[in-house]
Amino acid sequence: MGGREVDKAGPDGTVDPHERYRRQIKLIGEKGQEKLKNSTVFIAGIGGLGGTAAIYLAAAGIGKLIIAHEGTVSLPDLNRQILMDSRRIGEERVALAVENLRRINPNVIIEAHPERIRYERAKAWVESSDIVVDARYDFLERYALNKACIDWNKPMVEAAMYGFEVSITTIWPGKTACLNCIYPEQSYSWEPYGFPVLGATSGIAGAYAAIEVIKVITGIGKPYFNQMHRFDTLHFHSYTVSFKRNERCSHCGEQEGESYESVYERFARR
Ligand SMILES: [Zn+2]
Repeated sequence: MGGREVDKAGPDGTVDPHERYRRQIKLIGEKGQEKLKNSTVFIAGIGGLGGTAAIYLAAAGIGKLIIAHEGTVSLPDLNRQILMDSRRIGEERVALAVENLRRINPNVIIEAHPERIRYERAKAWVESSDIVVDARYDFLERYALNKACIDWNKPMVEAAMYGFEVSITTIWPGKTACLNCIYPEQSYSWEPYGFPVLGATSGIAGAYAAIEVIKVITGIGKPYFNQMHRFDTLHFHSYTVSFKRNERCSHCGEQEGESYESVYERFARR
């Protein structure tokens, strides 16, 4: 049985392509569901954060996911990478992700790249996406992605976690603060490997990212533009940090024109 046929026959044998999404259509409407189906999301990194975002975006019926992550599944990944599998240690991470995402929703088209994020490679994936999720921890990859999103004028959901704290903001190139406006390239320090992480915390950040993507695509709610939502998962304390675009930013500076509000409004109405 092909992927699409799975959804055509409901439990009672009737044909209803919307049966899978019936409960969320009550929130985002038929039109919102159609927008999800017609969208391509590039998820950079499918670890604890990006893997959780991929699960929820696949389940929600995004038309196409592009995923990229280098390497193989290792035992210390499994406290958080719920898209992986204890029985498949040593296997290529993205191949396993494709298999499991297809099991979650066989209707989603998935393009997978077993690679790190480098500008020259990532720009094609960014170009063919409607929106990007930055789920990498390595700032070199995050800056490369930020530049590619600026060059192709694609919105980017920037989700991160550190310790018990998660953070989320959405970047609209040239209109809102970009990653480099928030964390200038020369000044930011980050422990690149082996940082402490509890799976549930990275999962919350991934779920936040999935919701933010759905908000931007469907036009429901208000994305976190020029604001960063931070949630301390240890004390259940949340707060919002506001910022502005740096006109002299080395990544996104010297761009003029419409405000992000009017650009986003047009995107959401399409
Ligand atoms: Zn910037």
